[in-house]
Amino acid sequence: MSRKVIIAGNWKMNKTASQGKALVEELKAKVAGISNADIVVCPPFTTLCAVVEAAKGSNVKVGSQNIHWAESGAFTGEISGAMLKEAGVEYVIIGHSERRQYFGETDETVNKRLKATLAAGLKPIVCIGETLEEREGNKTETVLDTQIKGGFAGIAASDMKNMIIAYEPVWAIGTGKTATPAMAQETHAYIRKVVASLYDIETAEAVRIQYGGSMKADNSAELTAQKDIDGGLIGGASLKADDFTNLIKNAIA
Ligand code: PEP
Repeated sequence: MSRKVIIAGNWKMNKTASQGKALVEELKAKVAGISNADIVVCPPFTTLCAVVEAAKGSNVKVGSQNIHWAESGAFTGEISGAMLKEAGVEYVIIGHSERRQYFGETDETVNKRLKATLAAGLKPIVCIGETLEEREGNKTETVLDTQIKGGFAGIAASDMKNMIIAYEPVWAIGTGKTATPAMAQETHAYIRKVVASLYDIETAEAVRIQYGGSMKADNSAELTAQKDIDGGLIGGASLKADDFTNLIKNAIA
């Protein structure tokens, strides 16, 4: 089964609206004509509209970094699916390790946000991954099992087939430490195996699994060359048009 590569840039709390607009203007010119990868940028909320406008008519798609499960109401600091949809957003990052670590995100809240994303007609990018302590304690598989079972509880196979999972070993995020391609491949294959056990092989083969954690232009080719690695979720290297473009081009070369 051939799965289309998807490379998404998570800008985190970087780029004002004018800076985001400038970055996308530059990026869209550099990636014009690339059709064998889905290219996504995920700016902060206040930058979304400017970036959607700047990306119009190009192959750069826009995602948000969070979504709330309620349709509206007293949830200070949160954002709804309808708000994102109207802003022109297509993708939503859910359960990033920084949300889990600093903002109390759990598999249960990931699951609620995932259901709200699907209900709004948006495309989820669901993040999972183990900490260094968990990897060193041989708990990687147990942790991923729990995150997958909890995060995707109640999700139909038809939705699962279009799912994007970002496997991000927490110890590799922003640290410069990348999982070796072989190590990442082994874990991606395990994630696919868990999805197959919860759904079926066809569904597991359809799910796209991105790698995230210090992916850059000089390692994106060998990572995406692995059988079960279908792209990347990129932090630092998505903040400059040149870096992000080179990473994308190497990933699909
Ligand atoms: C991330 O935060 O999703 C990430 C992968 O960051 P970085 O590429 O900077 O390690």
